[in-house]
Amino acid sequence: MNKVAVSEYNELVNKGLKLPKRVRILDTTLRDGEQTPGVSFKKEEKIEIAEAVDGLGVDFIEAGFPINSQPEFDVVKEIAGMGLKAKVVALARVLDQDLDSAMKTECGMVHTFVSTSDIHLQYQMNKTRSEVKALAVSAVRKVKQAGFICLFSAMDATRTPMNYLSEVLKAVEAEGVDYINVPDTVGVMHPSAMRHFITEVKKQVKTPIDVHNHNDYGLAVANSLAAVEAGADGVQVTVNGMGERSGNASVEQVVMALHTLYGIKTNVKTEKLTAVSKLVAKYSEAPLAPFFPIVGDNAFAHESGIHAHAVMRSSDTFEPFPAEMVGQKSRIVIGKHSGKAAIEATLKTLGYEKVDQKLLVDITNKIKELAESKKRVYDEDVVAVAEDILGYAKKEKPLIIVDEVSVMTGNKITPTASVVLRYGNDILKGAAQGVGPVDAASNAIRQIVGNEAKIVLKEYNLRAITGGTDALADVTIKIENEKGRQFVANAVKEDIVMASVEALIRAVNDAVREKHKQEKK
Ligand code: MN
Repeated sequence: MNKVAVSEYNELVNKGLKLPKRVRILDTTLRDGEQTPGVSFKKEEKIEIAEAVDGLGVDFIEAGFPINSQPEFDVVKEIAGMGLKAKVVALARVLDQDLDSAMKTECGMVHTFVSTSDIHLQYQMNKTRSEVKALAVSAVRKVKQAGFICLFSAMDATRTPMNYLSEVLKAVEAEGVDYINVPDTVGVMHPSAMRHFITEVKKQVKTPIDVHNHNDYGLAVANSLAAVEAGADGVQVTVNGMGERSGNASVEQVVMALHTLYGIKTNVKTEKLTAVSKLVAKYSEAPLAPFFPIVGDNAFAHESGIHAHAVMRSSDTFEPFPAEMVGQKSRIVIGKHSGKAAIEATLKTLGYEKVDQKLLVDITNKIKELAESKKRVYDEDVVAVAEDILGYAKKEKPLIIVDEVSVMTGNKITPTASVVLRYGNDILKGAAQGVGPVDAASNAIRQIVGNEAKIVLKEYNLRAITGGTDALADVTIKIENEKGRQFVANAVKEDIVMASVEALIRAVNDAVREKHKQEKK
């Protein structure tokens, strides 16, 4: 059963709050998100991200800062012309050249900003309070006179005294500004302070309020929610919480908390969150920590048998909401403590119905063995082990089996292998050299079985199932007998040489069996 886990304490407190029915979401992945140190999106990537974020259903997409550069101007203009459902926003300082550039992109909305805190006025702007206020007013006037929707941000608002902040906000409101943003630019608010701050701001102006919170203390999401509790009805976010320094509030966390903890709607289609997160992680080359909320790899993963078992019966035992709500899948992580039941369940999700119980024990033992020597066992590993054991079990009993293999290799010696095979009651030994350890082992085997099956190696294919030097090696070998018949066999092991030897022996067994059949005729 899949359901949302509910705490009655939330419901109790929500009843006492004056919450908005709906919250606007402005995504600034392409602007603040791209200001993440070390991140730079290519033009095509920006276009793809804009489409993905639009598909997600956000209300506004801040596409860039056009005055920055000609390429940035061009991409904002292109995104503005894509016919997206979301309004495309261009950022501009309160300066004429910035505003002209932003408006020339033919975007839907201009976001103009100026610092209002004393520390920014002194060290960043070198301007007086009245000069800053005049700039803000003339910028908003210019944007509104040109017929654009206007969002105004008082940068570093949370470090601006309320009397001056109020003066500026009232002045831009008088110019007809459409939205006011009061960012916590340096990320220094705590949630109770944010609640107080937004309550005060709401007393000063009637214009809808956006918040833009930075995550320097890991409080960007909490502060955004606190702001909504106090009457803000727009939240600025980024995919994966990207952004300057420690980033912004993450769209995934803000939206899911609004929907399921507060019962507030947004236009976001939450089932697309994981796919969009993965796309942005790929293009930003900033992979998420596995325990990142909502969209991280482990957000719905269970390793403990107790949790896994309970979740299978009712997901809300140990999951906040059904994984499918955000485009994830609940999964059981296979580790060295996994039992037969967990492996059976995992195999089922991977498409292996009704595995023979005896083979299941073999698969479980093999996977546990693998988990001892490898940090993480992936689904692909489980599939490879299952295929190996199930596939081989279908075949007739092998005639020849590998008893011992030893190889020597290095930069000062010719790779040499010695192999011991068992063929019925016979012990067959051979040794050979080769260009590498796999080649040497293969030569040794061909030398031993030469009388039984004259074979040539036609193809050798090695694949690492997952990343890492401890990955399983998946070897497929194709051999040909003297009559031109080909035999293909595959084996999976942690060791490349052993996987190669096993695959070759499996193919040789097929060739020998075929020869016996021919002789009987
Ligand atoms: Mn920012």
